Amino acid sequence: MPDAPLNLKTLVKSLYGVGHERAAQLHRLGIYTVEDLLYHRPRRYEDRRHFLSIADLTLDAPATVRGKVITMGLNTFARGRKSVFELVVDDGSARLHCRWWNLPFMQNYFKQGDDVMVYSKPNSLKPRTMDHPETEVIDPGEEVSIHLNRIVPIYPLTEGLPQRWIRSLIARNLEQFEPALIEPYPEASQVGYPDFSNALHMLHFPEEREDTDIARKRLALNELIALQQEIQGRRRRLELNAVSLPCAGDNHLIKPFLAQLGFKLTDGQTKVLREIRHDMGGEHPMRRLLQGDVGAGKTAVAACSALMTIESGYTVLLMAPTEILAEQHFRNFQRWFEPLKIPVEFQSGSRKSYFSHDRPCLIIGTHALVQDAFRQEMVGLVIIDEQHKFGVSQRESLVRKGKYPHLLVMTATPIPRTLGLTLYGDLDVSVIDQMPGNRGRIRTYVRTPDKLKQVLAFLLEKLTEGRQAYIVYPRVEEDESEKEVKAVKGEFNKLALSLAPFKAGLLHGRLSSEDKDKVMTDFRENKLQCLVATSVIEVGVDVPNATVMVIENAEQFGLAQLHQLRGRIGRGAHDSHCILLARLKTDEAKQRMKVMEETTDGFRIAEADLELRGPGDLLGRTQSGLPPFKFANLIQDLPLVELARQLAAQRLKAK
Ligand code: ADP
Ligand code: MG
Repeated sequence: MPDAPLNLKTLVKSLYGVGHERAAQLHRLGIYTVEDLLYHRPRRYEDRRHFLSIADLTLDAPATVRGKVITMGLNTFARGRKSVFELVVDDGSARLHCRWWNLPFMQNYFKQGDDVMVYSKPNSLKPRTMDHPETEVIDPGEEVSIHLNRIVPIYPLTEGLPQRWIRSLIARNLEQFEPALIEPYPEASQVGYPDFSNALHMLHFPEEREDTDIARKRLALNELIALQQEIQGRRRRLELNAVSLPCAGDNHLIKPFLAQLGFKLTDGQTKVLREIRHDMGGEHPMRRLLQGDVGAGKTAVAACSALMTIESGYTVLLMAPTEILAEQHFRNFQRWFEPLKIPVEFQSGSRKSYFSHDRPCLIIGTHALVQDAFRQEMVGLVIIDEQHKFGVSQRESLVRKGKYPHLLVMTATPIPRTLGLTLYGDLDVSVIDQMPGNRGRIRTYVRTPDKLKQVLAFLLEKLTEGRQAYIVYPRVEEDESEKEVKAVKGEFNKLALSLAPFKAGLLHGRLSSEDKDKVMTDFRENKLQCLVATSVIEVGVDVPNATVMVIENAEQFGLAQLHQLRGRIGRGAHDSHCILLARLKTDEAKQRMKVMEETTDGFRIAEADLELRGPGDLLGRTQSGLPPFKFANLIQDLPLVELARQLAAQRLKAK
């Protein structure tokens, strides 16, 4: 090697032994630089200090064995279009048949007498057989110390790239570039983790099984500290640059508002309002997340926060994720604020009234509001309802608009703590941990689709008692490729007939704003008793007299979504019923329905969701704004996330 200074950004194509073809293969794995190469995470490890005897293989249990190739051959059939290559390995205890279907070139990789390692699950024991196993031929001339007699890393590969080759490449360059491995977070060693360079060694060439886990954790810590630094740095910059607007108010509007509200705020709501008032009278602009399960009464908290701001002489923006929800807020707030002589404006893509008030007002709209031009200096508070529909980046763009209004983000999706610390690490958190007391209970039942008739009979009974109902479908229109998934448009007419004399309305995202609006109004006013809808009603819709929710093809929905949908009922004094009609074809679907039957606790549901589907689905991978982690695992790494948060805070302080 020439003695140029060592640099981890060195391109792999310039490394010794990496030609054109190999470089292209590495690129396909996302490996462009030495750094990428050293971060190439083993997919699994093999303990090659002891092998299992072929005689001891058990069915379906993955294992590595080692033996000699005693015979091999290729059979073609179907006029040469299909083939099977078979290799027989013997380790003295028994024989193992390895088969590859339609990969005739496999025969080029072996010859009789080769010493070979084989890894897979046996799919038969008579004779002992593995289909498409992973193999490595032992070449005594090669670096035996890397590939044998130790715990050996097995890497993700791409076509044509041999395991041993990339393992040697990594081993070589790990040695070579050792001096360039600069410890990014020395404080990690002080809390018991290996230093960076050791961690990389342990990742690729562990001495003991446990090393691999310690190494992973240390490297995950690097990722998490970097992210926390970014999050906390953002918050810090805000505190340094932003001047807070005094928005704590003087109660002259809140008092009459609460008097006319018709209910008393719960202790939970009052506690949160105290926190908000403290923030909005403070030195830095508020950045607060308000978490409260569906139905906890976040809207009333939003209203009081808005009033504090308006009392102080500033305007408030309230943003909702859907038009239906924005409309509903508009209606509510108009009813609440008009007696107080506060102007309430509605803005949406389809209906825009350019507001021109000189006095403070409330402007309600969808998140498109972010893009609209306002007299920014007048905006004292921005409220985002149902945050999980917005991404971190959208929140950012709003903050970057420059004038640093106070920010209140409201979410009904209880976020498991790991994710909360990661996604909302720059926000303070308030929780409404109590439901208003005047609620009936919600019972949930899971039924197979063939029970639809009985379910409708039950629903009619409830309508006869004076209640209202939702029937939800996963689709607007049928899709030929998935015939068993029902759609609102196809079902609506049939349903409307069978529900007579009660009236049903149709609601889905493809209707015009006016039509949506009309249907919602009619339902709210009980001119329609049943709403046949898609998941557009998922968030926020509040009609306390509606007590039945039937969800068809419930297996098509995620847990978070089902919880949101069910949150549309149980909002009044009457008992409510949620019926999930589901095809339980997969274990995951079964588990999801079971969770729904067993609990209405949003927090437990969110954790179950995270476990079943991972964080990406919970938040929408692309909008979650999270960097792709190689080592960190947001489901299991709560202690690491907390540690990273602490360490990042220490760093920020030391600056
Ligand atoms: P969410 O937290 O899901 O947004 P909402 O704000 O829509 O919940 O409130 C759900 C229902 O509870 C509404 O009908 C609301 O008027 C009612 N509500 C809110 N606070 C109280 C309270 N303190 N006492 C009684 N009912 C309340
Ligand atoms: Mg709400």
